[in-house]
Amino acid sequence: MKRWKLKSLCAALACAIMIPASVYADTKQDIENVQQQKEDTQERMAQVEKRIEELQALRADAKAYIAAMDAELAAVEENIADLEAQKVVKEQEIATTEGELKEAEEDEKEQYESMKLRIQFMYENGNQSYLDAILSAGSIADLLNKADYIAQITAYDREMLDKYVATRELVEDKKAQLIRENEELSVLIHNAEVEAQSYQQLIDAKAVVIAEYEAQIAEGQAEVSSMQEALNAFEAEIAELEEKLRREQSKRVYDGGQFTFPMAWYYRVTSPFGYRIHPIFGYGHGHTGIDLSADTGTEIYAAYDGEVVISTYNSAAGNYIAINHGKDSGGNVLITMYLHCSKLYVSEGDTVKAGQLIGLVGSTGNSTGPHLHFTVKYNGEYVDPAPYIGLQ
Ligand SMILES: [Zn+2]
Repeated sequence: MKRWKLKSLCAALACAIMIPASVYADTKQDIENVQQQKEDTQERMAQVEKRIEELQALRADAKAYIAAMDAELAAVEENIADLEAQKVVKEQEIATTEGELKEAEEDEKEQYESMKLRIQFMYENGNQSYLDAILSAGSIADLLNKADYIAQITAYDREMLDKYVATRELVEDKKAQLIRENEELSVLIHNAEVEAQSYQQLIDAKAVVIAEYEAQIAEGQAEVSSMQEALNAFEAEIAELEEKLRREQSKRVYDGGQFTFPMAWYYRVTSPFGYRIHPIFGYGHGHTGIDLSADTGTEIYAAYDGEVVISTYNSAAGNYIAINHGKDSGGNVLITMYLHCSKLYVSEGDTVKAGQLIGLVGSTGNSTGPHLHFTVKYNGEYVDPAPYIGLQ
């Protein structure tokens, strides 16, 4: 589009004033070179941006994987906590059983000791005691009772001893069972800890991969931002070269003649020129033209003979026109601009005469009410338009 415009502008100029193309061929070549560099950079930037997107997708996958592994790990850790609680209970049971065992052993020992004593006593005093028992019997029934009693004593002792031994053995079995169960719990805990460790290793390995992705993403983003800077520089260079080309292409001469007032009438100057170059930072700021308020539809005229180089719309200037009046005797190009129009009557490439109707006042673009913003650019700089149109 831009190239087409340039070509059509060249063609129009060539027809009108017969400039050989070779005069500005170098600048055109420069523009094409920078344009090519810009396109190459854009292509590289698109590739890097695509790679960043791929890396971001990989990073998202890795993060999802870590989240899944974290959930698994949490389940295993919960299981470990549960097993450890079981182990605590088991160890308490073992301690209790050990108490029981000690008691059972004591009961057994006591019974054994008292039994031994009674047997010993009966053995040592056996006959006498037995005899005494028999002799002291008051009746045959009493005697039988006493004999029976003695027999019962030994049977009782044996029975009691057997019972205590059985109890002690039972408690021993119980204790052995608890110890086995406790060992099983230890094995389960150990296995779960190994499992948790393997999940943790997977998570740690993935975190390393994510860090690598992030480093690559950051590297890519730094590359993109430096390419963006390069693109901005290319664009500025292209704009500068295009302006240079326009100046080179124009052989029009400004003869120093007086400007025609650029509109049919106006109410007042609502904002004077106030453009300055910042003394330290060098950039321009302030009001680049003079604002002349008027009703919508008021006629706007070309301030002087020239060629329409811009007739278009943008969001700041609204519908606007730029006219190149040519170079003065010092070789400086003089351009006038007409902003915020409601209508444009000329097209890029048109030749206009001073006082020719080119558009109508409006409030398009960045404007709060109908007015003409009139700009004069001399040698590429904004200058106060007032002296050019007899306002001071
Ligand atoms: Zn203005």
